[in-house]
Amino acid sequence: MDRILNYIEGKLLEPASGKFLENFNPAMGAPYSTLPDSDSSDVTKAVDAAHSAFPAWSAMPLSKRTSILLKIADLIDRDLDKLALAESIDQGKPLKLAKSVDIPRASANMRFYATASMHMNSESHLMEGEAINYTTRTPIGVAGCISPWNLPLYLFTWKIAPALAAGCTVVAKPSELTPMTAFMFSKLCIEAGLPAGVLNIVHGLGNKVGQAIVEHRGVSAISFTGGTVTGKTIAATAAPMFKKLSLELGGKNPNLIFADCDFENAVSTSIQSSFSNQGEICLCGSRILVERGIYEKFVNEFVKRTKELTVGDPLEEKTRVGALVSEGHMNKVLSYIDLAKQEGGEVLCGGKRVTLLGRCANGYFVEPTVIVGLDQQCRTNQEEIFGPVVTIMPFDTEEEAVAYANSNAYGLSATIWTDNLKRAHRVAHQVKSGIIWVNCWLLRDLRTPFGGMKQSGVGREGGWEALRFFTEAKNICIRI
Ligand code: NAD
Repeated sequence: MDRILNYIEGKLLEPASGKFLENFNPAMGAPYSTLPDSDSSDVTKAVDAAHSAFPAWSAMPLSKRTSILLKIADLIDRDLDKLALAESIDQGKPLKLAKSVDIPRASANMRFYATASMHMNSESHLMEGEAINYTTRTPIGVAGCISPWNLPLYLFTWKIAPALAAGCTVVAKPSELTPMTAFMFSKLCIEAGLPAGVLNIVHGLGNKVGQAIVEHRGVSAISFTGGTVTGKTIAATAAPMFKKLSLELGGKNPNLIFADCDFENAVSTSIQSSFSNQGEICLCGSRILVERGIYEKFVNEFVKRTKELTVGDPLEEKTRVGALVSEGHMNKVLSYIDLAKQEGGEVLCGGKRVTLLGRCANGYFVEPTVIVGLDQQCRTNQEEIFGPVVTIMPFDTEEEAVAYANSNAYGLSATIWTDNLKRAHRVAHQVKSGIIWVNCWLLRDLRTPFGGMKQSGVGREGGWEALRFFTEAKNICIRI
């Protein structure tokens, strides 16, 4: 069995306790590796290492820092096939997706922020005749980066890259459900010559390792992506300590389909936005709202294409829907399908666990599921399921569509399908989400602000936002 180790002070180490947890292959429903069951003493060691490394890393000439981060990006590209295979085995996602999206995005994150830091400049403001102000932005210190299991290396690097590029040193924790590519990443950092202690990766459980990172007085900022409930716990711990916080939380995103849309494009992209990565993407459009004039046509075509999706072994080329990340998560998704039925929903396709033959006989597979007939306010339409389950509801007017879209505590992303440009702008301005896609989905430009409103989070990642987060601004005013 592979043994994952912590990465502290440039070395791969066992946890202080000597204890390990099992790491499951969700497509087989069986453990295949172990990971450290670390605790607060490992976190303290990592924070100490990060503090020791901070003066040299933050003072390193930008060109040198950049070249190390670019080297890491190159090594990710070199190991694309190995990393994609590991990600698919660890998470359950189709290998094809890991190869085309997850791992290329991880190297893109490193490259984007390595070079962005070369272009970041600080502001200067002349107060006519009186004074000149200039603002410095210096790295905040040791940053804590905590990431989830759905897009493991993709989201891990999305935090680490801007933190390191800004000159911070980092203590990071990947999800205990998907630790493998973070471990492989630590080996690439060593190979790339990242100085010891600049990045420290502590594996283990959220309520032990994650909580210890958030609680540690030596960690100045917490960048967290995960569930809203965990986000609340983190905020409750970190806020009284006045730590800087970036919280990227859950979503229950509306997908608004107007009758004047490009129908083919809307249906085919909605299949993607519903079931990509088994629906385990925070940006998936799980509430589909369709204008009544095309409601029946849309539902029929959508269900037909959903039934054509191949649920199967993530390593097979034809597989479109892989395994859910864990047995617990699969049971949660299935329980929401039961709830939807109790709430009066009609399951038009899917709804059940899939049992495959062969090596994946014990895997955590669920059929892509389409449910209609539900009220906007029912729990199925209000709570995040985070699986291959969507609901479809009709609407009659634009006002109603906007009201339905906003009738939820979350506000991460929304998709709007219409060929009417004025409507696109009108609706985009009224929907309360941090990210709006019009006639597309998951089209990402890394320069744009990324994050949610309401219970979907606090703060924004992406572009300058992340570099600003990991730096502290200071204004210096000099009388002329
Ligand atoms: P989670 O909140 O259970 O865990 C996320 C991370 O936090 C894990 O590493 C976990 O170990 C750690 N953690 C758990 N308890 C902690 C604590 N008390 N203190 C510190 N860390 C703790 O989330 P998950 O189940 O891994 O991920 C799924 C969730 O993430 C979904 O809600 C999804 O919408 C959300 N998500 C959001 C975004 C976004 O950008 N907004 C992106 C991806 C996923």
